[in-house]
Amino acid sequence: MATTCVVCHDPLVMTVDPDSDVEDQPSSSSSAAQAETVPDDLGLACGCHYHWQCILDNASSVANSLTCPACNTYLSSSTPPTINAVYTSEGSSGEPLDLLPTIREEAYLSTNPGARPARAMQTMCAEGDVQGILELLSETEETERDALLRYQDPLNGMRSGLHLAVEAGQLEVFWLLMWLGSALRQEQFPDEVWGLVQALEVGRIDGQDIRSLRDGSGRTAGDLAAELGGVWAGIVGAGPVPVNENTITQVSVPEIAQLFVIFMELRYAS
Ligand SMILES: [Zn+2]
Ligand SMILES: [Zn+2]
Repeated sequence: MATTCVVCHDPLVMTVDPDSDVEDQPSSSSSAAQAETVPDDLGLACGCHYHWQCILDNASSVANSLTCPACNTYLSSSTPPTINAVYTSEGSSGEPLDLLPTIREEAYLSTNPGARPARAMQTMCAEGDVQGILELLSETEETERDALLRYQDPLNGMRSGLHLAVEAGQLEVFWLLMWLGSALRQEQFPDEVWGLVQALEVGRIDGQDIRSLRDGSGRTAGDLAAELGGVWAGIVGAGPVPVNENTITQVSVPEIAQLFVIFMELRYAS
């Protein structure tokens, strides 16, 4: 088995910083001696091994040619194409994976570096990370916030953050996005949502109403919610929204239903 990376020829390990607790303790050995290593070994079907970052550094050429950058072997054996790989790291002990989606994303980001924060935003929409979204927006120039909020991902069917929040049933993100990027008036929001955005001093972001953004199949987020009716109906009927670390307030069922109705009524608004 290979022990070094075909790109940089270093051992297939990654150095992890010693715990800060350890660092603070007096020790006669150098800090370099305390550094630990964990596996970082990506094996391709051709037999070449890479560090994770070293294959990502070659993402554009791999995405275009579907060949191994080191030995030029064609890596896909299926239609649509996949790149079978095995990755061994601290957290995974060599499960097979399809590397192609990651490679395509990285290739896209390397030619569109401006899309990186927008894709981070989309991930947070899907995961329900309200705090993360607010932090990202506060770090973003005011003139860039519109593009961030209304970004539609060409690698993900032109979905917007609102599509992803609806798809993942993320009610808190859904409210936040509606506040930030829809033309709904203040009095159309449940009191709790209004109180929350006021407490957080979240302003609204001018631009196209996010409810009118259509994905690659021509669907608005409202159309998507209608398709997913069961999920959304289930959330509406399931009782109070469970409190988690991002929940500052608890909202009752009638208020969820009220907002849901407003959303559905206006789903074709433009
Ligand atoms: Zn390497
Ligand atoms: Zn190879």
